[in-house]
Amino acid sequence: MRKHIVAGNWKMNNDLAQTEDLVSDLKKQSKTSDAEVMIAPATTNLWHAFQSVREDDIEVIAQNMHFAENGAYTGEVSASMLKSIGIKTVILGHSERRAYFNETDASLAKKVDAALSNDMRVIFCFGEELADRKSGNEATVVESQIKNALFHLDADAFEHIVLAYEPVWAIGTGETASPEQAQDMHAFIRKTLSNKYGNTVANNVSILYGGSVKPNNAKEIFGKPDVDGGLIGGASLKAEDFYAIVNAF
Ligand code: PEP
Repeated sequence: MRKHIVAGNWKMNNDLAQTEDLVSDLKKQSKTSDAEVMIAPATTNLWHAFQSVREDDIEVIAQNMHFAENGAYTGEVSASMLKSIGIKTVILGHSERRAYFNETDASLAKKVDAALSNDMRVIFCFGEELADRKSGNEATVVESQIKNALFHLDADAFEHIVLAYEPVWAIGTGETASPEQAQDMHAFIRKTLSNKYGNTVANNVSILYGGSVKPNNAKEIFGKPDVDGGLIGGASLKAEDFYAIVNAF
């Protein structure tokens, strides 16, 4: 069922002590919206964060995982390892993973399969680069990212998928897609899903927007009918700012 979701991607920020501080600040905030709240600390701090927010209305999620169950993949973490410490949701396909770690739609399709076969929920990220937008190819790029990584799935799988449209030119740049640009793309994404899986699947999938969402622009972006929430980078590192975004719904 389609939900409002606000997820904070902490990226490679915050050691254990800083994680403790930020989690404790988050616990002091009050939620006045119906949004599901998620935080994605670094892998080393997942267990601590998970233990700390057990009683709170915050889900701790992972930023990435490997597609294999186990084996000779030095430095990697599997879905079952995440599950074993209570993590039930994973972000896959963030543009930084695609750009710096050579993740492709094909390798992401394998990660999606591994997460789903471990009963995990996936926040699947995609989005065009500036050159794509400048040349008017943003819809083609987004459509192919979705098709190549997700369209081998059956309709039921989409109960466990959240989509995150993140135009690469808006991530960490302070430049945001306008609410209209976000709405246009989200409507296009829903249409793409509907063409393949029908209206029920398309209308039930939550589609988040990511790219310089801040307390001062969240309300306008979240006000658009096909925007179901946000994936938040920089602004998720300050508890007050993050909850101002959570409460923008
Ligand atoms: C992100 O990294 O997913 C992101 C949206 O970052 P920021 O909010 O800092 O643009």
